[in-house]
Amino acid sequence: MGVSPDEVRERVALRFGPRTLTYGRLAGAAGALAARVGTSGRVAVWATPELETAVAVTGALLAGVAAVPLNPKSGEKELAHILSDSAPSLVLAAPGAELPPVVGDLPRVDVDASAAGAVPAERAADGDPALIVYTSGTTGPPKGAVLPRRALATTLDALADAWQWTADDVLVHGLPLFHVHGLVLGVLGPLRRGGSVRHLGRFSPEGVARELNDGATMMFGVPTMYHRIAEALPGDPELAKALAGARLLVSGSAALPVHDHERIAAATGRRVIERYGMTETLMNTSVRADGEARAGTVGVPLPGVELRLVEEDGTEIGAYDGESVGEIQVRGPNLFTEYLNRPDATAAAFTADGFFRTGDMAVREPDGYVRIVGRKATDLIKSGGYKIGAGEIENALLEHPGVREAAVTGEPDADLGERIVAWIVPADPGDPPGAEELADHVARRLAPHKRPRVVRYLEALPRNDMGKIMKRALADA
Ligand code: ATP
Ligand code: MG
Repeated sequence: MGVSPDEVRERVALRFGPRTLTYGRLAGAAGALAARVGTSGRVAVWATPELETAVAVTGALLAGVAAVPLNPKSGEKELAHILSDSAPSLVLAAPGAELPPVVGDLPRVDVDASAAGAVPAERAADGDPALIVYTSGTTGPPKGAVLPRRALATTLDALADAWQWTADDVLVHGLPLFHVHGLVLGVLGPLRRGGSVRHLGRFSPEGVARELNDGATMMFGVPTMYHRIAEALPGDPELAKALAGARLLVSGSAALPVHDHERIAAATGRRVIERYGMTETLMNTSVRADGEARAGTVGVPLPGVELRLVEEDGTEIGAYDGESVGEIQVRGPNLFTEYLNRPDATAAAFTADGFFRTGDMAVREPDGYVRIVGRKATDLIKSGGYKIGAGEIENALLEHPGVREAAVTGEPDADLGERIVAWIVPADPGDPPGAEELADHVARRLAPHKRPRVVRYLEALPRNDMGKIMKRALADA
C-alpha cells in the first residue's frame, strides 16, 4: 500500500538524542542550506555526531556540490593535510561547534536545522562527485576517495536488496559521521529507504538496548562495539532481550572476532551478519538477511559487484575450495572514480581491465561465501614456507580466557623468513598467560607452524577512531 506525500513529510527521518527532524523539516533545512551553498565547488563538513551534520551533507547533495567530511577529533596536522588536499571553499558546521585554527581560516556557514527552504531542482549528474571521503589511515596517510553520486545510490540499493531494508526500518546508530560506514550506510541509507535513524551521540550497550527495546529494528556497528556488547551481555538481560528482538545486526569496517560473534549468538540466539567494504568501493559483499550468518565470513558479492580472487602472478582463482588465498579485486558501479590529486596512486590501484585492487586477501568457501584472511600488507605472514593469515591466529588467541585483545604480526627472522609475533592485552594484567601456554593453545587449535614465536604484552592495542588496530604502530608500542 502506498504512503501519501503528507504522511511522508510527517515521518521522523532523524533523531539525535532528544532532537528530531521529520522528512518535511529535513527537506526544508537541507533546501535552505543548498540555497546558501549555491554552486561552491566543494564544501567541508565539520562532522560532529549531531543533527546538523546530516543536514549539511543532505544540503550539499541537493546543491550538487561535493562534501568533504572532517573528523573533529583529527589533529591539526591531519586536518591541514585534508584541507590543503581537498581545497574546500567553505566549512559547514553546527552553530555551537568550536573549530580549531586550521579550519577557522575557511569561510564558515552555520547549519540551521530549523530553516525552511525549497528543495532545488536536481543539479548534478550521476558521475559527479557527491562525497570526498578520506580513508581511515590504517596502513598509511589517509587518501581522499572521490565518490560519485552513482556509487552511493547503487551501494545503498544493493544493500536494500541484501538486507530487505525498507521504510519500516529504524536504525540504531552509534558511529562517527566522517567515514562511509556511519555517513553513507548509517545516515544516507535510512534516508534513501524512507526509514529513520536514531543516533546515540556516543555508543553504549545500554543505548543500544534502550532503542532496540523501543521500536528500533536494526543496528550497524564496528567490531569493538560488538565486543563491548559481548562483554556486557552476561549481566544485562535487557540487552539480551533487545538483541534477540532485532531484525538485523550488522558489523563492518574490520573483521568481527569469531569469539565475540559466538558469545553474542549463545546469549541471544541472534547472529551478527558481516558486510565487507572500503572507502574506495563502498560495499562489496554481505551476508544476506535471509542467508546463513557464519562467523568469520562476509557473505557473497552484492548485486552489481564483480568480485574475483587473484594470485600474486595475476592468475584468477577459480576454485571455491575454502583454501586458495588471493587478493580481492572488484569492479562495479559502486566504485570511487579516483584518489584526489593522486593520479599515480589511482592508476596503481586499478588493473588493466578496470578491477580495483583492494589489498585484502581472502578465500571463497564452497558455497561462494568470501572469508577474509587479512590485508596483504600487514596480515599475511610468510613463515617457514607457509603463508599464514594473522586473523585466524588472532581468533584462536581471543578464545583463551586470559586474553582480552590480540593482534598478530610478522617480524623478520633469519631462519623462517618471518616469525609470528602475538601482541596481547591480558584479561588480568597481574596474571598474564605465559608465552608457551599461548603458543600451545594456538598450535592445538590450528597447526603447529601457526604458533606465535614471540609474545609481547601491552596495556591496550593502538586503535584508530573506528576501533581498527593500527598494526603499523605496533612496532613502536
Ligand atoms: P587506509 O586505506 O587509509 O590504510 P583503511 O583501509 O582501514 O585505511 P577504510 O577504507 O575505512 O580504510 O577500510 C577498508 C578496509 O577495512 C578494508 O580494505 C578491509 O581491510 C577492512 N574491512 C572492512 N570491512 C571488513 C570486514 N567485514 N572484515 C574484515 N575486514 C574488513
Ligand atoms: Mg584502505
